[in-house]
Amino acid sequence: MAKQEDVFKKIVSHAKEYGFVFPSSEIYDGLGAVYDYGQNGVEMKNNIKRYWWEAMTLLHENIVGIDSAIFMHPTIWKASGHVDAFNDPLVDNRDSKKRYRADVLIEDEIAKIEEKINKEVEKAAKRFGESFDEAMFRQTNPRVLENAKKRDELHQRFSDAMNANDLKELRQIIEDYGIVDPISGTKNWTDVRQFNLMFKTEMGSSADSTMNVYLRPETAQGIFVNFLNVQKTGRMRIPFGIAQIGKAFRNEIVARQFIFRMREFEQMEMQFFVRPGEELEWFKTWKEFRLKWHKALGMGDEKYRYHDHEKLAHYANAATDIEFKMPFGFKEVEGIHSRTDFDLSQHEKFSKKKIQYFDPELNKSYTPYVIETSIGVDRMFLSVLCSSYEEQALEGGDTRVVLHLPKALAPVKCAILPLVKKDGLPEKAHEIMNLLKFDFACRYDEKDSVGKRYRRMDAIGTPYCITVDGQTLEDNTVTIRDRETMEQQRVSIEELHAIISKECSLNSLLKKLV
Ligand code: ATP
Repeated sequence: MAKQEDVFKKIVSHAKEYGFVFPSSEIYDGLGAVYDYGQNGVEMKNNIKRYWWEAMTLLHENIVGIDSAIFMHPTIWKASGHVDAFNDPLVDNRDSKKRYRADVLIEDEIAKIEEKINKEVEKAAKRFGESFDEAMFRQTNPRVLENAKKRDELHQRFSDAMNANDLKELRQIIEDYGIVDPISGTKNWTDVRQFNLMFKTEMGSSADSTMNVYLRPETAQGIFVNFLNVQKTGRMRIPFGIAQIGKAFRNEIVARQFIFRMREFEQMEMQFFVRPGEELEWFKTWKEFRLKWHKALGMGDEKYRYHDHEKLAHYANAATDIEFKMPFGFKEVEGIHSRTDFDLSQHEKFSKKKIQYFDPELNKSYTPYVIETSIGVDRMFLSVLCSSYEEQALEGGDTRVVLHLPKALAPVKCAILPLVKKDGLPEKAHEIMNLLKFDFACRYDEKDSVGKRYRRMDAIGTPYCITVDGQTLEDNTVTIRDRETMEQQRVSIEELHAIISKECSLNSLLKKLV
């Protein structure tokens, strides 16, 4: 098994063992692709949400938030296109009895060819050393050229089939390229079929008054249908944005990779309304701001990349993903889309209500254009967890598992540890906790040796451990241990607040964005 897969397995079990993420309904053997957040997970998730919310609403005078309902009028999903087009093409393998997304199988095949090319380039780079001219090699090496041609042809056929919604052609591509089931290794595929991802339920109690409603598959539509409410009551002037955090539901065909693809998940979305014609400038601005938001966490700039979409939805005129290097490759964490006036126009058409904005500077009314930034809380959570996890070898042959979490996101900011459970140390420790707990998530722990307690805190990414000992009673000083260096420093109790605040407060993170 590849090493990265091993690491990922360890991260998943660590997340469970230390109260971050549990499989849902576990005592009933779980429920596919549904997860619960535990005592540490919920704190970290809330910190991620606060970071996003405050970066959007506090740092931008022209962005306000809302919290719309999960249930919405079913016509909204007709207008948005989800009833007719929120489909994935699925295919089953008759031997493994597993279901796959046909588009994902083909994308994986394209990635495999790409990988072959990169391996060829890497090999040559090693062989030629400093004199290696990569661009020239890519243009002239016969094996690279052959694979590049194969990749481009496959890509073209694939995007034509997706654009034309041609399921037969998708099936044919799987056949022609000899794509096999990763589990059974066979090519025994069924036909490709369309599958709508929305969950449907009924609202109302009597048979004749029930109405089919959907669990929302995205939070964005709640923003669009409240555009006029917010604009009018908030006296908002274009350009302005509306932000929302909330649950979304998708009946994903292939739910795998832990919390990367869930059936119930959470989104943080912002729709930014602009003048027609100015959207591409704003798209660029938001693309940059959103990457800055990610990078400010300090997890390593090299772990991010943009993936600009070549194939755009019919209503979009620009789209990019921010991808993060997960243990299973670069994957989308956030999407940024220039959606033109599609959504508001559709709701105007279906609701038969005028949804326009009167621009006092231009002295005319128009349907605003929209830039959307859309990020999954859970995927963000996974990226933070994966990039923080380390099994660290220590001097003397010992090891520790440590989460190098961005400090502002850590579920617990400081642990307060009396060296022993007697001699007035627990009382003193509680006194210190009472000083700090209004501003920082603190955890009191008096069980086991202090060494074991340090390890427990490393494993959940606690930036600081404060140890209360005999000397504390004499001179009001404690030791403060740093998660990264494991070094301890003796400081006075009065200094603690400033030390923790400097490194752990959300403010210090937010200040990097302005
Ligand atoms: P994918 O191609 O991975 O299915 P998408 O392009 O359909 O994602 P969007 O509709 O653009 O995703 O949703 C915006 C964000 O919501 C994604 O970038 C991702 O972070 C998150 N997201 C979407 N689907 C899921 C899911 N099933 N589980 C967890 N997060 C999700």
